[in-house]
Amino acid sequence: MSETVTTPTTSAVMNTYGRFPITLVKGKGSYVWDDNDEKFLDYTSGIATCNLGHVPEQVKSKVMEQLDTLWHCSNLYDIPSQQELATVLAENSCFDKVFFCNSGAEANESAIKIAKKYAKDKGHSKKTEFVTFHNSFHGRTGTTMAATGQEKIQQGFTPLTPGFRYLPFNDANALAQINDQQTTAVILELVQGEGGVYPAEQAWIKQLEALCKKEDILLIIDEIQTGIGRTGTLFAYEQYGIEPDVITVAKGLGSGFPVGAMLAKEAVANSFQPGTHGSTFGGNPLAMSAGLATIDTILSEDILPEVSAKGLWLTSKLEELQQEFSSIEQVRGLGLLIGIQLSTDAKVLISECRKRGLLVLPAGANVLRVLPPLTTTYEELERFVDTLKQILTELEVSLP
Ligand SMILES: *Cc1c(COP(=O)(O)O)cnc(C)c1O
Repeated sequence: MSETVTTPTTSAVMNTYGRFPITLVKGKGSYVWDDNDEKFLDYTSGIATCNLGHVPEQVKSKVMEQLDTLWHCSNLYDIPSQQELATVLAENSCFDKVFFCNSGAEANESAIKIAKKYAKDKGHSKKTEFVTFHNSFHGRTGTTMAATGQEKIQQGFTPLTPGFRYLPFNDANALAQINDQQTTAVILELVQGEGGVYPAEQAWIKQLEALCKKEDILLIIDEIQTGIGRTGTLFAYEQYGIEPDVITVAKGLGSGFPVGAMLAKEAVANSFQPGTHGSTFGGNPLAMSAGLATIDTILSEDILPEVSAKGLWLTSKLEELQQEFSSIEQVRGLGLLIGIQLSTDAKVLISECRKRGLLVLPAGANVLRVLPPLTTTYEELERFVDTLKQILTELEVSLP
């Protein structure tokens, strides 16, 4: 992406990211400031992480309290705040047990491990295959990269962890390839985020769920981007009317503090026993204070219904723009996870937005991804739409 700059060769930081050419030093609510004190409306939310905006007071005060008492003690001791956060997550989902870790990839690793162990425990020794989908994103570790159905992410890293088969997303015919002889689990996002903001079709998901239930195949939903209120419910699966066996969360769970979690139904959770899985930092007291305060705030402040309302409002405004500008081909998404399919590369639009004090993201091919904080106001949303309209007007006028 020519829009981003690579790390200078003189830097001691490894060159793993193309970075936008600004340096952010401060954030508050929907806004961030760069090192020249320029202010930006942040509609990236640190990639769906700062769902309550930057430095949310409720989370800050809980983390500050914890900073004064105990940072870390290891999982060799009971951590009461783990019990608390696990209880809140269980009470607000269809799951019974929670394993805490530090990132999305680690949550997916945990889900893959527990699914393997569950199949072994049930005596399904031939079931060794995981099904994931084209265009998915499940992480960058050895195994989660193999789970990710995108060649560009796997390139140069063969041999991959074996055992993953990729099927086309939203394709009813492809489901015939999932069977009780070999499939351990199916892993998918309900809205493919990194892949370009593609929502799963409800009928297809219901069909997949029924198949998994019938054949005792675990249904694992990767809610790392869609979870923690992003789509208008605490988890996206609620809107699909399904009950997965396992979900994974991370990004939004700690409001920017690294926290990941894998939630499972009791029957699956029982496959983890002392000695089968673990994580040094997973569920440490600081992370738990951030997670607890985040979930408490999202559930107590009536944020969720607002997310749906704002998402519908924004989508309808963007569809109006689509009528007016041929560069917009489609508007997709759920809640405040929105993708604008463009007829051209998203980078021009992203850089024009930044010049006007607005940060947005790319995704997949030619998709502008919009991830406002869940707490964004209608004034801010309006400013976003107006800015986009202004840029599109100028761009389309300048087209031959
Ligand atoms: C971001 C993301 C991951 C990976 O999370 P990390 O914390 O970067 O490891 C996995 N799955 C989905 C759907 C994601 O959006």
